[in-house]
Amino acid sequence: MKNDVTKIVLAGEGGQGIQTIAKILSLALVKADYFVSYIPQFGPEQRGTPSVSFIQFSKSQITYPKFDTADIVMVLRRRAIKTIESYIGSKTDVLFDSSTIARQNFTLNNSRLFAIPATKLAEEEFGAKNQNILALAALAKNFLDYPKNALWEIIAEQLGKKFAKNKSLAGKAKEAFDFAYDFSLESKKFTKAEYDTSDSLIVKKNSQRVAVIVPKYCKGCGICILKCPVNALSFGKTLGVYGTPVPEIDIDKCINCGNCYRFCPDCAIRVVKK
Ligand code: SF4
Ligand code: SF4
Repeated sequence: MKNDVTKIVLAGEGGQGIQTIAKILSLALVKADYFVSYIPQFGPEQRGTPSVSFIQFSKSQITYPKFDTADIVMVLRRRAIKTIESYIGSKTDVLFDSSTIARQNFTLNNSRLFAIPATKLAEEEFGAKNQNILALAALAKNFLDYPKNALWEIIAEQLGKKFAKNKSLAGKAKEAFDFAYDFSLESKKFTKAEYDTSDSLIVKKNSQRVAVIVPKYCKGCGICILKCPVNALSFGKTLGVYGTPVPEIDIDKCINCGNCYRFCPDCAIRVVKK
């Protein structure tokens, strides 16, 4: 690890778990005998607004928690780039989620761009909740050279209550962690950013009915999918307010039973007769 003060910015969207990663990383650095400063920053609302954390660590005391340019930036959602781009300098290492952010979303001409398609890997292989573990493992290994077992111990301790309630979540989290720790970061050729947050309504219609899904309200709980009696709903690649997938509807299968919008806790879906 570096010996002088190392400055890190982590950014994503509210509810996505950026502050959980920041807390685990800060604890890991304290356990490695560093002085650590960690400042969380939230938007005016928690949901869907950029969530940023500022971490510094050093072998000597940190005198001031603010800084202008980061050594390492990790950004997991396109909408958070604007908030943190000013912290990226010519020598900043940038780690991003290539399945949600395209290279051209960065306006700065920085060649130190690296990526892991954390959302795609989580959605398609390890479970949606593990996108942060994938990102954290990739960051800690490639930019901090943090020892694998020591980091996993801290993650398991911090997420112990969740893991105790859900053993399969714990197993998948460990698989995701091991995979990401050994993952070779993308640096020139990036995964296609096919998962993306959307501010637009999703509208599907046929001759009989119209369905509207509101990604900025949807937290990806999946209740509507479970309650649909004809399997007309499934998760798609548009991301909602917490960066988790929003349902897609097969409008021709839908019988307009009303279950999805009756049970949705966030009024994020509606089907009406034409
Ligand atoms: S209205 Fe009923 S059938 Fe149609 S998508 Fe919703 S739950 Fe499924
Ligand atoms: S029930 Fe509502 S919030 Fe949950 S996944 Fe469906 S649309 Fe999204």
